[in-house]
Amino acid sequence: MSDQGVRSWIRDARHIAVLTGAGMSAESGVPTFRDAQTGLWAQFNPQDLATEEAFRAHPQRVWDWYQFRRDLVREVQPNAGHYALAAFAQRHPGRMSLITQNVDGLHQRAGHVGAIALHGSLLQDRWLDAQQACCSVEALEDGHPPRCPVCGNLRRPAVVWFGEHLPPEALAAAEAAVQACDLMLVIGTSGVVYPAAGLALGAHQRGARVVVINPEPTELDPVADRVLRERAAQCLLSLLED
Ligand code: NAD
Repeated sequence: MSDQGVRSWIRDARHIAVLTGAGMSAESGVPTFRDAQTGLWAQFNPQDLATEEAFRAHPQRVWDWYQFRRDLVREVQPNAGHYALAAFAQRHPGRMSLITQNVDGLHQRAGHVGAIALHGSLLQDRWLDAQQACCSVEALEDGHPPRCPVCGNLRRPAVVWFGEHLPPEALAAAEAAVQACDLMLVIGTSGVVYPAAGLALGAHQRGARVVVINPEPTELDPVADRVLRERAAQCLLSLLED
């Protein structure tokens, strides 16, 4: 059953900012960081694999973990929640900004145009030690990770690791969305990773209504005007239908 109050907030909002986290993709079958890891990776804490220090210390281990996640994401599909958000944004041009912490590309695959990817993309990689192309080489040396055959520079996943800066354009776009919004939907995020979580605090401080959609308690519940203890896909389907 959808929440009528929140539905009317959505109907009346001038601009809606949506902040999504790993829980948004849980119903597609992508594990969140908090889900128990299984098999090969059970011995590692994912957060210990998501830093530059970890990559430099154990490049093969970290590369292989990202390959494992990449393969997993290629096999899953966007869920009804991703599609409901994309369809709403299409039906209401300019009324919704989507800010995602997810690196899985599922919002984009659901057809969401202009999604702001705060933490980069799992599906791409880049040079570890250079912003631009390295040594102008045409061919990479195969490996885990692949490397430049001339200087040895490594490829790394194009995601934002713990301790790294967010892409400035994405952060600026996200902050502009927070400035513009009078309603923010915070979906499937534990609210512990900054600066992303700070966007919800900023929206609240500016007087926007904040709605948290999450089956579990989150760090952002205290600033929420409404907490919906529901899973993202079904909840968004009923909230966002016209
Ligand atoms: P998190 O793992 O810290 O928290 C996930 C949250 O999702 C939890 O609060 C959980 O209760 C909630 N959740 C679980 N199932 C849900 C459902 N069906 N509907 C709604 N909520 C549900 O994830 P986070 O807050 O996004 O932060 C961790 C970091 O991990 C982020 O930086 C993100 O980039 C990265 N990450 C991304 C992916 C992805 O791209 N799919 C997956 C894992 C981690």
